[in-house]
Amino acid sequence: MRVVVVGGGIVGALTAYYLTERGVKVTLLDKKYFTYGSTGRSTGSFTAQQHHPVLVRAALKSIERVKELKRRFIELRIPFAYRFMDDESPHIAVALSDDDAERLERDARVWSGSGAEVVKADAERITEYVPFLNTDAIRAAFITPKDYKAMPHPVTWASIAAARLNGAETRTYEEVARIEREGDSVTVVTSNGRRYVADAVVLAAGAATPSLASSLGDRFNGFVKPHYAGGLVTEPFRYVMKATVRVIKYSYRFTQTVRREFVATIDDMKSENPDLDTSDSIEFIEKASTITVKLMPVMKAVNILRVWGAYVDVTADKLPIIGWSPNAEHLVYYAFGFNDYGLSTAPYVAELIADEVSRGIKHSILDSFRPIRALTQ
Ligand SMILES: Cc1cc2nc3c(=O)[nH]c(=O)nc-3n(C[C@H](O)[C@H](O)[C@H](O)COP(=O)(O)OP(=O)(O)OC[C@H]3O[C@@H](n4cnc5c(N)ncnc54)[C@H](O)[C@@H]3O)c2cc1C
Repeated sequence: MRVVVVGGGIVGALTAYYLTERGVKVTLLDKKYFTYGSTGRSTGSFTAQQHHPVLVRAALKSIERVKELKRRFIELRIPFAYRFMDDESPHIAVALSDDDAERLERDARVWSGSGAEVVKADAERITEYVPFLNTDAIRAAFITPKDYKAMPHPVTWASIAAARLNGAETRTYEEVARIEREGDSVTVVTSNGRRYVADAVVLAAGAATPSLASSLGDRFNGFVKPHYAGGLVTEPFRYVMKATVRVIKYSYRFTQTVRREFVATIDDMKSENPDLDTSDSIEFIEKASTITVKLMPVMKAVNILRVWGAYVDVTADKLPIIGWSPNAEHLVYYAFGFNDYGLSTAPYVAELIADEVSRGIKHSILDSFRPIRALTQ
């Protein structure tokens, strides 16, 4: 079987790897370099703090998978594998209002009901992890102590290197323009006119997937919207944080690098931009700086060194879109719409995707994610 995977983010890279493990001949294409999309701009948290039970279970299994992948890739002598980092990294979710506290209580019940370890935290507990946090602003907090942190770049690159060892062809700066069906095969056409013929194609192009789907007549109009997300990193900071903190009101998350730089992201700035233009980020800097200093007055004195942006593919029900196109069953498979949790769930979900594509089986655990619910006439 020959499969073309479009998009070398975490989802496409791991799907490509797991497909090659199942004996499939894979070609992986990216319009820029691998990790160019939201994967390369993410915070690196693999967290059980998900809003849906299936996503919580996928995240818990994904944490185990990342650890296994690291061991496997080291055995294969893939150099980036050593750079995964392999720390358990507690994640603290905090609510700043009574309404958010109620929402957080509900979410925490979903996490623990789906098998995650969850601890309710008081101010004293929070400051054990983050000593400089202004706990007066916090109404409720829950910790998932067994979450994991890994660098998204080496995880993705190592998966691609392992796929190559298994025979995959990988190409960067190869932008896919459209997909054409021809009987029992499918052709991926690039913007420079190259054509890749395959038995199936997996579309894992993140926020760009709906426009590729439209070349097949599949319209995700309105159901999937690209939302701007931003990140910033500061100069090294003398206090040490022992957790990643997520402030649920603003989709705001912060953590610390191994060099002690402070990293903050807002996973969803709510601004849509169908052209995926990342040039304007002043709104993000203003918002992130304001929240940061409100929660941590000590940060006033710390310089921001760099900011970046990306698009997350936000779906109307906040669930991913995974499965065969209803118009092109067994030819075109969708794997996108990962909102702000793709890192956390991709390692497990990608394995299921590889099974479905290569072995023709259906995993019922993916049933809530099928494309049919998201397509308009
Ligand atoms: C600031 C920020 C922080 C985040 N933090 C976290 C976190 O801590 N934990 C977590 O779980 N998730 C986090 N996320 C979300 C996570 O990054 C995404 O859910 C996940 O990376 C999506 O991966 P993907 O492979 O689906 O898409 P992407 O990483 O966007 O990959 C899509 C790839 O497709 C390529 N592509 C696009 N169009 C074409 C085309 N026409 N032809 C060929 N290739 C194409 C792109 O170049 C890109 O490389 C964060 C996101 C952001 C932006």
